[in-house]
Amino acid sequence: MDDSVSPRKAALAAASHRAGLLAEEAPLIGIIDMDALRGTIDDLRSSFPNFFRHAFAAKANTMPAILKFVRDAGMSCEVASPGEFEAAQAAGFAGEEIVFDSPAKTRWEIDAALKSGATLNIDNWQELARVDDWLAKGKSSSIIGIRVNPQVGIGAIAAMSTATRTSKFGIGLEDGDNRARILAAYEARPWLTALHCHVGSQGCPLELIAAGIAKTYALAVDINASLGRKQIATLDIGGGLPVNFESDRVLPSFRDYVASLKAGVPGLFSGEFKVVTEFGRSVLAKAGIILARVEYTKETGGHPIAITHAGAQVATRTVFMPDLWKIRVSALDPQLRPKTGERIEQDVAGPCCFAGDVVAHARPLPRLDPGDFVMLHDTGAYYFSTPFVYNSLPAIPVYGASGAGDALKLTELQRGHALV
Ligand SMILES: *Cc1c(COP(=O)(O)O)cnc(C)c1O
Repeated sequence: MDDSVSPRKAALAAASHRAGLLAEEAPLIGIIDMDALRGTIDDLRSSFPNFFRHAFAAKANTMPAILKFVRDAGMSCEVASPGEFEAAQAAGFAGEEIVFDSPAKTRWEIDAALKSGATLNIDNWQELARVDDWLAKGKSSSIIGIRVNPQVGIGAIAAMSTATRTSKFGIGLEDGDNRARILAAYEARPWLTALHCHVGSQGCPLELIAAGIAKTYALAVDINASLGRKQIATLDIGGGLPVNFESDRVLPSFRDYVASLKAGVPGLFSGEFKVVTEFGRSVLAKAGIILARVEYTKETGGHPIAITHAGAQVATRTVFMPDLWKIRVSALDPQLRPKTGERIEQDVAGPCCFAGDVVAHARPLPRLDPGDFVMLHDTGAYYFSTPFVYNSLPAIPVYGASGAGDALKLTELQRGHALV
């Protein structure tokens, strides 16, 4: 793992130090590099043809300031819960800019979505019946589709693979007579004008994702052909582009993904369908870092341990599944400059009261001392923006960085709570 600190990240750490953000009572902060985020969104939009519409998957980072920013940068928003729906609306997304996916929509949520004009992706047959009931009495401008599970298989992380044979999401395309049932459902409902899939997230190879999208695309073409009309006009191909947690390199890039889709699903680029994407992690992960103070160090059983303020509350997956969600950690000195010196294997632990609260196990790093800091890389998505409220640890202050050199500014995006 490349734990070197890039000049940009060194500048962010130095600016945090100058501004005194890591005070005694604020031993842990998050930073989102807003310039990097804008660059990623520009790269996303320019990598795909213009008729692709990109919805940001809100669960990756639901901070109000981030949702507003991605909206201003030209994205729409994918939500999967009433809380995310509300957050998207509060950030200014209009109904038609919201895509609502959730496997557990209540009648109340379906009602709110159809009234707002949000795109609705139906997860299962029972939900379809509820939408039938609603539309028997009301009128909606929503685009409505069905989520299928193309059942193409598993990636490296089972919990992130949504297109296995038995995944809980969508209607299994290969099960029983589902294909025929789906066709009949579209035939009977001219208002079903979209088709959705989301093959999976971190750990899913591009070929697997492309294979799932290819099956979904082929199904849409089949349905339109057998109905003899262009009923399905929108294909939502989901998100899930994996992120490289090993170094600062963006790998795969959006361009790599487009190349893989062009090879696996060339028809997607013909313009015959409007295409919607739902990227989350690949938009935000690399724009974020966590900085945390080393409070104490000790040696137990001959093993050096640094107790820091970053643990399961901001790095939940990494702590609970350390082999699958390994992140880069860099050692910084009390002035937040990268530390050098001989590397020794040490645990970088968090503040939570359970023994597994360790963000890096036996990691070779320059020896950490009390008053030093650690930088946790690639933590802009699903880390501090998705806190785990254990031990009543407080929400952490988050700053947005923009500009460079003397013009580098850090502004508050989210207020933390004081520790006392
Ligand atoms: C989580 C999720 C996404 C985003 O996944 P990323 O890996 O963050 O890109 C998109 N669509 C759906 C339906 C999801 O559940």
